[in-house]
Amino acid sequence: MVRLRFAPSPTGYLHVGGARTALFNFLYARKMNGKFILRIEDTDLERSEKEFEEGLIESMKWLGLNWDEGPDVGGGYGPYRQSERLDIYNKYAQKLVEEGKAYKVYAYPEEIEKLREELLSQGKAPHYTREMLESFTTPERIKEYEEKGLKPAIYFQMPRKEYVLNDIVKGQVVFKEGTLGDFAIIRSNGVPIYNFACVIDDYLMKITHVIRGDDHLSNTVKQLAIYEALGWNPPEFGHVSMILGPDAKKLSKRHGATSVEEFKERGYLPQAVVNFLALLGWSHPEGKEIMSLEELISAFSLDRLGKNPAIFDPQKLKWMNAEHFRHLSDEEMLEVSKPYLEKFAREEEINERKEWFIRLLKAIKDRVEELSQIPELVEFFFVEPENKVELSDEVKQVYSELVKEIENIEQWDEKNIYQAFKNAMKKGKVKGKDFYMNLRIVLTGREEGPELIDIVYLLGKENIVKRIQKQLG
Ligand code: GLU
Repeated sequence: MVRLRFAPSPTGYLHVGGARTALFNFLYARKMNGKFILRIEDTDLERSEKEFEEGLIESMKWLGLNWDEGPDVGGGYGPYRQSERLDIYNKYAQKLVEEGKAYKVYAYPEEIEKLREELLSQGKAPHYTREMLESFTTPERIKEYEEKGLKPAIYFQMPRKEYVLNDIVKGQVVFKEGTLGDFAIIRSNGVPIYNFACVIDDYLMKITHVIRGDDHLSNTVKQLAIYEALGWNPPEFGHVSMILGPDAKKLSKRHGATSVEEFKERGYLPQAVVNFLALLGWSHPEGKEIMSLEELISAFSLDRLGKNPAIFDPQKLKWMNAEHFRHLSDEEMLEVSKPYLEKFAREEEINERKEWFIRLLKAIKDRVEELSQIPELVEFFFVEPENKVELSDEVKQVYSELVKEIENIEQWDEKNIYQAFKNAMKKGKVKGKDFYMNLRIVLTGREEGPELIDIVYLLGKENIVKRIQKQLG
């Protein structure tokens, strides 16, 4: 059975890149009827925050990427938070030390930094060797560490050889000999470095496939060496290309909203965000673009993960969101819009006048790309426009007829409203265009908006009469 994981570091909100990684791992796990695991990689104690962990979990849930094992739901391979697994990492580090594949380093950070600078000033790459780092290990230094209650860091002795990865996405990747020196796996405070903890966990959690961004390739070679040193088989790796902004530069804040949190706030539907993320590096065999999560699961396959960088196009996300709105039922549309209507009406009121609100949303639906546009689009239905409209005497005369016609309507429906328009127009010499355009401005204060018939129907008799009379008086 396949087992995949999403392993975020809780040092920030869930952004596009992370969410896409989570999604690809999720889709493959679900497609193969395997397991999807959430692991929190919080070994960077200074930058990790509980608040970010909670935010990540909330964003994942909102996207609908549910997991089978994780810190909140448990599972047979826990704990699922790295900060709760320190003993495990130390045990394996110790094993490597005993086997001579890793070693203790009694050097202070300043000394390591100095060593680095020396190497660089000699025109060499800052690759540490065992010999260099063990030169700090004198009996005096060991004693000093003991007296101060300090622990040595543990470094992995990186074999100086070539590594070859058969990557699911990139094909064969060769890591040439001599590109890396020895590196720390456990800090002197006993906390592991990412590359080490990741290998131990992926192995112990029986992870079969790891899909992640290709910015991790330089980590992968270190991880391959650790797997080898421990005598373990690595999982399958698939490195997807980075996501770029529309300007072909690395995606960043400059490109606007890039976190799931922000998409949610702006009123994107989770299914639209998921759909959009899936197409950042994956494509449907028949080029299908609008898909639900279920459709994505059934169509997903690793061999359609692309090698080229994906371009994040905010316009496309908007378009997709609008497409997904069209797939919502009236009730669903009302449900997702409620938070944005509450500026004008309380929830009980919305529920009481449900039919009216559904009709309102239908009238504006085609103009909505982000739910956060709703308040602006519907405002005039609730708030009378304040502007004074310049109307010719002819138009005024026809509108005063219109007021009478409207007042006489018994059954408030579209047919009778149209009839009222016609009857009023017959009583004067106003062109249809002037009649309708001015009426729109009188009623809404704007030149654009939903169909006039929808506006009139939804505003209702009293409002119509009041708004026209205000401009006549
Ligand atoms: N914690 C790592 C990150 O957030 C996980 C990388 C991986 O998938 O191995 O980048």
